[in-house]
Amino acid sequence: MSLALPAAYSQAALRGLRCRCPRCGEGRLFRTWLKPLERCPVCTLDLTPQRADDFPAYIAMIVTGHLMAPLIIALSKDFHLGPAAMFAILIPLAVAMMIGMLQPAKGTVIATQWWFGMHGFRKERALAAEPEPGESGEAARK
Ligand SMILES: [Zn+2]
Repeated sequence: MSLALPAAYSQAALRGLRCRCPRCGEGRLFRTWLKPLERCPVCTLDLTPQRADDFPAYIAMIVTGHLMAPLIIALSKDFHLGPAAMFAILIPLAVAMMIGMLQPAKGTVIATQWWFGMHGFRKERALAAEPEPGESGEAARK
């Protein structure tokens, strides 16, 4: 088994965004829509320490709000739509965007928690990764 640890946080986060295991990038992260597996089926990473809680929902709401605001302004200023037409367009679009973002947001939150060793995750880094700033300083003193 060739286990390729992510070289940087961005790679781990991207794996989580794709709903893949942040450690190996191959195993699925979720058993059902928002229920993570207990272990990665490929690298056996224990996923039970994850504590995403409500944070993915907050991310989905913040992103949806920021994407919807210019659309709301454009629809009301440029197209002069009435309130019923605005709601008919905006409410389903906002709900679809938030529902569509929940799983990738949760995957990214889990990847972030794994990368930073939060809540019982073990901090793992690829061997080729740059040394921590404190490590090089200690090596120079010896
Ligand atoms: Zn894995």
